Amino acid sequence: MIIKPRIRGFICTTAHPIGCAKNVQDQVNYVRGRPQLTGSSNALIVGCSAGYGLASRISAAFGCGANTIGVSFEKDPTERKTGSAGWYNNAAFDRLASSANLFSHTINDDAFADHTKTAVIEAIRNNLGSIDLLIYSLAAPIRTHPKSDEVFRSSIKPIGQSMSSRTLKLDVLTGNCEVSEIDIDAATDEEIRATTAVMGGEDWEYWIEALSEADVLAPNFRTVAYTYLGNELTWPIYRGGTIGKAKEHLDETCHKLNTRFGQSGCKAFIAVLKAVVTQASTAIPVVPLYFSILFQEMKSEGTHEDCIDHIHRLFQEQLYPEPSRVDDSGRIRMDNFELDEAVQARVAKSWERINSENVHELADVSGFQADFLRLFGFGHPEVNYDAEVSPVPLQG
Ligand code: NAD
Repeated sequence: MIIKPRIRGFICTTAHPIGCAKNVQDQVNYVRGRPQLTGSSNALIVGCSAGYGLASRISAAFGCGANTIGVSFEKDPTERKTGSAGWYNNAAFDRLASSANLFSHTINDDAFADHTKTAVIEAIRNNLGSIDLLIYSLAAPIRTHPKSDEVFRSSIKPIGQSMSSRTLKLDVLTGNCEVSEIDIDAATDEEIRATTAVMGGEDWEYWIEALSEADVLAPNFRTVAYTYLGNELTWPIYRGGTIGKAKEHLDETCHKLNTRFGQSGCKAFIAVLKAVVTQASTAIPVVPLYFSILFQEMKSEGTHEDCIDHIHRLFQEQLYPEPSRVDDSGRIRMDNFELDEAVQARVAKSWERINSENVHELADVSGFQADFLRLFGFGHPEVNYDAEVSPVPLQG
């Protein structure tokens, strides 16, 4: 089949196996070109197939030399339909790990479900004995609660009052775009509760509880969950909205984990990461416009990072040996370049002025567009997108 991007808004329903494999290979090459990392020997990454989770798995495996178990929920390919990008990323990761003699085992199932936790524990017992690192990097739209079977759907809305904001309407294939206004209603209490159930810390705690009860946590075990804070331009929709509420719950869970499991050596951390283009982040209204302006400024400052640069830096300077750039709430701050005062002042200025006429001058729309296509394996100059390719690549 000839695989082209099929796009609706910021959703792409196809993925290119060769382009996705190239994305993974590029990240592995990046890590191999950096000084060796130390720290983890056996790592579990929940949300391993894309974005920050994939970069974490690559940093653990190819940086630290760790054996890895990954969990993600991706769509399998068939002869007639491509799989999701994350499915191809996992396949490429497992192939590269195997050829580097690194143990890797990937479980493609619902991380919220008890049976997935059981399968992971079995894989740890059979292959690793214990794990010393759990990276929790889920970004999910829905969760079936494992105890009540209640189905929760997250929503991205402001809390308390509706909002109007500028946003980017972009045709990712042509680059045509306009800056328009959107109105978003305030969340109901039920939507806040559901979003916290999906994106808050309860499932993270369930993971640590299950792993601890199964006695598969190494004495030097540490766990890190990822969060975002951003600046006041995105606060109404992010930090002050439903997702921010869920992230507050994640913060509280981190403190709880340290209290509950600290005596046995477990250390839990929240790392505040920078804005990057991923499937999860582009689904948030307003964010693509802020990101495009931010990338323009961070690139001109020479401080822009993508997932792998950023996570490699997290491992290298803040995770091993010990976090040092920590805020009053105990969170590891990796967003120091994004929140740099000079960068933020220029972003705020551009935000005031930006419109459909000057958007390409004030914002890195083409960088955003390229990053978005790259998520699905498109836009690599080396890949021939007119060639036939099987959506079900041969394994091994
Ligand atoms: P992403 O969309 O790239 O990846 C999400 C991962 O979650 C994928 O591996 C997917 O398969 C997995 N997943 C989703 N539902 C699942 C389920 N039910 N079971 C198992 N796996 C499931 O997301 P991302 O942007 O890398 O986000 C990861 C974390 O980083 C999130 O907590 C997010 O809030 C945080 N973060 C993201 C940004 C950003 O700008 N993208 C910034 C700071 C923090």
